[in-house]
Amino acid sequence: MIGLGLVTLWFALLLGWGWRLRGALRALWCEPCLSRPVLIFESDDWAPAPPTQQAALNRLIDTLAAFRDAVDHPPVMTLGLVLSAPVQQAGQLQIRQFDEPAAEPLRAVIQRGIDAGLFSPQLHGAAHYWPAAFADWLAGDSAAGQWRGDAANLRTETLPSALQSRWWNPRLDPPAAPAAAEAEAAAEAEATLFQRCFGEPPRVAVPPTFLWQEAVETGWRRGGVRHVVTPGRRWQARDATGRLRDAGVVLHNGQRSRQGLGYLVRECYFEPERGHTAEDGLRALTQQSRLARPTLLEIHRSNFIGDSALCERALQELQWLLEQALRHHGELRFLSTLELAERIDRNDADWMLHQPLQRLKFFVRRGAIEPGLSRWFQLSGLLLLAGRG
Ligand SMILES: [Zn+2]
Repeated sequence: MIGLGLVTLWFALLLGWGWRLRGALRALWCEPCLSRPVLIFESDDWAPAPPTQQAALNRLIDTLAAFRDAVDHPPVMTLGLVLSAPVQQAGQLQIRQFDEPAAEPLRAVIQRGIDAGLFSPQLHGAAHYWPAAFADWLAGDSAAGQWRGDAANLRTETLPSALQSRWWNPRLDPPAAPAAAEAEAAAEAEATLFQRCFGEPPRVAVPPTFLWQEAVETGWRRGGVRHVVTPGRRWQARDATGRLRDAGVVLHNGQRSRQGLGYLVRECYFEPERGHTAEDGLRALTQQSRLARPTLLEIHRSNFIGDSALCERALQELQWLLEQALRHHGELRFLSTLELAERIDRNDADWMLHQPLQRLKFFVRRGAIEPGLSRWFQLSGLLLLAGRG
């Protein structure tokens, strides 16, 4: 009798706890389950300068073009495009935009990659900073003189970290996001500028440093953006020390924002310049596929435009990863992030699992590793359903 009472109590506690977690559990259950492994390379920060990017992009085209999946689709690298970049001209710091003649050779190589199905352009931002913050930093920070003096190395990657957040102004006291109306207008304007530079509106946006607010989404949506790449959370501010602070919500693939944008999750890293190898990339692909999730691998442009030995190594690791991924995952498919998002949106029967029992297995596997839910899944005994495969 006592045993039965304890089991009933345990069951009641579990249900009550699950009820409190119902919002997170529902969001997790709604995440689509892919029926086959998917691999996408996500490369941010490509900008109208420096010109060395041209050779790097040509090498990337050659590397990617040598591979095909089982349905003859080549691997795709999304290019997170920054539409302006600081350059030194005649001793002056100037801002060059992608629609200027000086950026035409770069635009041409990007277009060549797009036409070959190897590149997919995404909006990273009109700039990799909030312009008023950047101007203030240039005028008032002692480190700015050294940064702007190194003409051959004028890259936004070397700016102070907080300054690299486009939707944040670290120069205000206290630091703050731009006013909502201002951010909304700037987000719409950058989508329009993207269209002017590349001929069509951006469908996918990737906020720099993954910090953005709802007003930004409103502007993006008006400018044609339909999907946002996230790290599975939304950084919306920085604290007094510059550390990113999130909105306290886990984001899932296919989840809709209040503005109607669809979220995608990019949470795996393949940055050879930081020591990541083809084996690391393959491990990420295997783990994500075991969760019926796509593998979006973050690999910034900085891997390909700096020290030549590092660039060669990055291309070599990329090539090895593609070889091994195709060898170990016969069902592997390549496509762009936009194509993936559209398949998720229409619940594509060929790409998504629909049977509840199949989905339950992945729901449990995912829940077992999701912060905030993992203990509930462990104590519920549901893990027995997940299997080891
Ligand atoms: Zn970036």
